[in-house]
Amino acid sequence: MKPKLRCVHCRRRFIANPRVKDQKYCNHSCCQRARKTLWQRRKMATDAAYRQNQKDSHQSWQIKNPDYWRQYRDGHPQYCERNRMLQKQRDAKRRARHLAKMDGLKQLKSINPGAYYLIPCNAGLAKMDALTQKINLIPETYTIFCASCKKGLDRPPETAAVKGAYSGGAP
Ligand SMILES: [Zn+2]
Repeated sequence: MKPKLRCVHCRRRFIANPRVKDQKYCNHSCCQRARKTLWQRRKMATDAAYRQNQKDSHQSWQIKNPDYWRQYRDGHPQYCERNRMLQKQRDAKRRARHLAKMDGLKQLKSINPGAYYLIPCNAGLAKMDALTQKINLIPETYTIFCASCKKGLDRPPETAAVKGAYSGGAP
């Protein structure tokens, strides 16, 4: 009795050809086409010489048949419509990726307390005009604290200076 195998493409059982080693596809044309497509996809991914040969072959064919794709599009409006729809989906995906990157800037809102150099933007990288400033963070609840402690006169001077810069008034 001949061994039966299951086709990996159509999942039907078939009698194995004894001349084909490790046969996985039956002899239906769609299954053979799928086998060849998979082989070619793997070959294109792994073999640079084969990839270059395919590219050269396609280019020479396009030179010999310059109107082929224009005529094909004229005769197949559904093909054109499908391409337009897929391109719109790719554009929307690209826009969504860009928006996702914009949201990534939110994490830059926080600043760590410590000593910073203030350098004018148009001064380049020269440190001659740099001023050292200490930055203290003021919590959002600070206004409540300030009202209850008589305008903040009992605070340390660094904190008062930063508060003055935020409120626009003198400390
Ligand atoms: Zn099959």
